[in-house]
Amino acid sequence: MGDEVKQERDKLHQRDDLDQPIVLPGIHRYQFISNIKDRALTKNLNRVAMLGIAATLGVDIVKPLANGVPQAIYCYECRACYATQDKCPVGISFQAELVVAARVADYDRFIRNGGLKCIRCGNCQSFCVQNLDLPKIFGTMQIITIKAMKEDIIPKRILTDALKKGLVNRQYIDEVAEYCGV
Ligand code: SF4
Ligand code: SF4
Repeated sequence: MGDEVKQERDKLHQRDDLDQPIVLPGIHRYQFISNIKDRALTKNLNRVAMLGIAATLGVDIVKPLANGVPQAIYCYECRACYATQDKCPVGISFQAELVVAARVADYDRFIRNGGLKCIRCGNCQSFCVQNLDLPKIFGTMQIITIKAMKEDIIPKRILTDALKKGLVNRQYIDEVAEYCGV
């Protein structure tokens, strides 16, 4: 009796041959994933996907908004700004790295790529396909980075290394040197 009920229940959740859509006369296209019994898994997969999307939105949209660099959201990461080359007076090669670092508040990446060396001249802006206000993004990220340094969020070795490599501009060098004790 129990088996019969189970079979009946399974049948309700399972499409048989005649329920499958016909693609050509006599030929059915089997849609296993749309069988009702498979949907529990599909639903959970959807939930996981939605969670992933929400987490990405959190990092890519909420963080830049909170950090005062909303324009960084619009960076395509196309790297067209690398064409700035020797027009950058302080020799920064990878402006897109700075934008992405600002977007996710990655201090290490920002410092390593010369973010604290930028003098906000604006030369790279004309190469940006999105015409993002790059000097403003970099300037805001510099302020946030120095604030994080004062709050001991950035490991000293990263800043000491930046000092050694000449990656800190005149505006911040005294503060950074004092923090690193050099
Ligand atoms: S704004 Fe900064 S990164 Fe851009 S060209 Fe000027 S110094 Fe270089
Ligand atoms: S050119 Fe503009 S949009 Fe493209 S990576 Fe550089 S900053 Fe981002």
